[in-house]
Amino acid sequence: MNIEPRIAAFHDEMTRWRRDIHAHPELGFEEERTSAIVAEKLREFGCEVATGLARTGVVGTIRVGNSPDSIGLRADMDCLPMQETNTFEHASKYKGKMHGCGHDGHTTMLLGAAKYLAETRNFQGTVHLIFQPAEEGGGGGRVMVEEGLFQKFPCDTVFAMHNRPSLPVGQFSIRPGPMLAGGTRFDIAIKGKGGHGARPESSIDPVVVAAHIVGAAQTIVSRNTSPHDPVVLSITQIHAGDAYNVIPETAVLRGTLRCYSNEVREAVTTALSRVAREVAAAFGAEAVPNIRRGYPPLVNDAKEAAFMADVAVSLVGEENVQRNGPRVMGSEDFSYMLEAVPGAFILSGQGGGHSGSGHMGSGGGCELHNPGYDFNDDLLPLGATLFARLVEAKLAARPA
Ligand SMILES: [Zn+2]
Ligand SMILES: [Zn+2]
Repeated sequence: MNIEPRIAAFHDEMTRWRRDIHAHPELGFEEERTSAIVAEKLREFGCEVATGLARTGVVGTIRVGNSPDSIGLRADMDCLPMQETNTFEHASKYKGKMHGCGHDGHTTMLLGAAKYLAETRNFQGTVHLIFQPAEEGGGGGRVMVEEGLFQKFPCDTVFAMHNRPSLPVGQFSIRPGPMLAGGTRFDIAIKGKGGHGARPESSIDPVVVAAHIVGAAQTIVSRNTSPHDPVVLSITQIHAGDAYNVIPETAVLRGTLRCYSNEVREAVTTALSRVAREVAAAFGAEAVPNIRRGYPPLVNDAKEAAFMADVAVSLVGEENVQRNGPRVMGSEDFSYMLEAVPGAFILSGQGGGHSGSGHMGSGGGCELHNPGYDFNDDLLPLGATLFARLVEAKLAARPA
């Protein structure tokens, strides 16, 4: 692995930062301590620092020369509302909060890159180091974009990475175009007519209506969408009734939709609303769908994904970079930044290694969001080097 020697030299220091953040996890928009540490370190390295974007967001800026070229690098800082079961020294000190997704590692890798870039300044142009709050459901990335992130800190391109336990350290996966799914949540409120369980003829049974809607909704994916467009439509809740002998008045269905384009999302949610309303009407009941858009699909710019893959290849070799890696059904709010500015998102392997020695942990290969997960510190210098090389390649000093 072609790790930058100056970065390798402070691997131990990065490990200490990472474990300190891991031990003090903070939920979305509450990252006061983490964001203060990030701002303090960035200032110490010699970056210009802006705080308070999206409440706890931080942007560090390094400018070299007069080139108008600019690049953004983004890391996320928030933890998850879950109890950690690891027993090592840097396990979470806070009950019910845990860095179960490795954002402690993402933040540390970007800090490592900042330290190196501010010291060496081996590029021409401006780099913005974006530390965002609330990736895990709060949409901190969206809030930063809405608060004018790219007006205040214009970026020609923007890049991010996420650790991937199922790949070993030293391997990367990326793909052009849609890479992570967009998420959508829905509720369908069904109103029938309640009555005695022994006298169905004088009621409109919302339980039967709900069952028909669930069945009919399965045909949306199988009959209304192309087999070339992966879609998941899952109805995950049915709520109705409290008694053996009462036909309830109402029922509620809830669920989630995942897909890779806004067009497919529109088509599926339109079909779902239609199916719910019309099926209910067929039984003399009424259905009111409430569909709420979550994170949009994460779509890599083809050119920038190829650029990011090239930089990864320069570190670990062609055989260790999947340029057409598999799509992922999970979601990421970096997608909002990619809707605003072209760029790319890469998955970096974090399997193997020695960390994650807790209860159910299995080294860096422990699944994300598992109570035994830990970020693998072996990845820190490689990830920081990737961030640094993206800047040096994109803002390469050009001969006059
Ligand atoms: Zn996560
Ligand atoms: Zn995550």
